[in-house]
Amino acid sequence: MPGGAIDPTARARLPRPVPEGPTVARWAEALRALEGQPLVSVEAPRRWRPRTDRLVGSSIGSVESRGKHLLLHLSTGDTIHAHALQYGSWDVGTLGLPLRKEPRFIRLRLRTATHDAVYYHGPVMEVLSPSELLAHEALAALGPDLMHDDFDAREARRRLATAGERPIGDALLDQRLVAGIGNIFKSEGLFLAGIDPRRATRGVSARDLTRLWRRLVPVMHESARQAGPTATLPPARREGRQRHWVYRRRGHACFECGTPIAMERQGEFRRATYYCPACQR
Ligand SMILES: [Zn+2]
Repeated sequence: MPGGAIDPTARARLPRPVPEGPTVARWAEALRALEGQPLVSVEAPRRWRPRTDRLVGSSIGSVESRGKHLLLHLSTGDTIHAHALQYGSWDVGTLGLPLRKEPRFIRLRLRTATHDAVYYHGPVMEVLSPSELLAHEALAALGPDLMHDDFDAREARRRLATAGERPIGDALLDQRLVAGIGNIFKSEGLFLAGIDPRRATRGVSARDLTRLWRRLVPVMHESARQAGPTATLPPARREGRQRHWVYRRRGHACFECGTPIAMERQGEFRRATYYCPACQR
């Protein structure tokens, strides 16, 4: 910046956690500690209180993650639907869990006799009736979920084929084609499978996709098991703060071949895709 002025956009560029399928699966697993217990209190912003007040005394029957969506199914028949986009996060712990942020950032706070769960900043938090859940457009449109044991690879391939000329690095983020991949696992998965993110999706073969799922899914499951920031590099290969093969490593040497990692912005939202121009074809 000229004259050493403070760059007003610098704040927006600070690294922040980007919830992807594994993060949401980890939140779901933590929230299962509340299953079956009556809710002693439910706090939400004022506009949601008519709906959240009626949840007191009900219990969470099951917790489900669908792609990056989190669903808490309640004994009343209602469902709490949360989507963190790039901002939200959950804290779950035993009763008396200290707040990590100011109360004004709380979107939902659930308490049972033994546990607290707090959802911060989440841009999507809604209470859906059974019919609203069935009619929910974003949920109904979701593609096969990579994090689910019954992931339907054939259906994912069929949906991805409709992406045509869209680069594969863009198409993988479209949750209607395949659910659960965010910006980190998009770049990391394509690197692990040796696929150039700039390739037209229709030119990515069934064999390429099979290799992509085979390399990527175990890494996503491993990430869901671990606490802390997302890491895709095997522990033995981590040096210092390096946690990824290519993500946010533009200009640094590829761990496999030494070629500088490249970055290209793709798709409608200009999301950054990192790749090795030599390893990925
Ligand atoms: Zn390389």
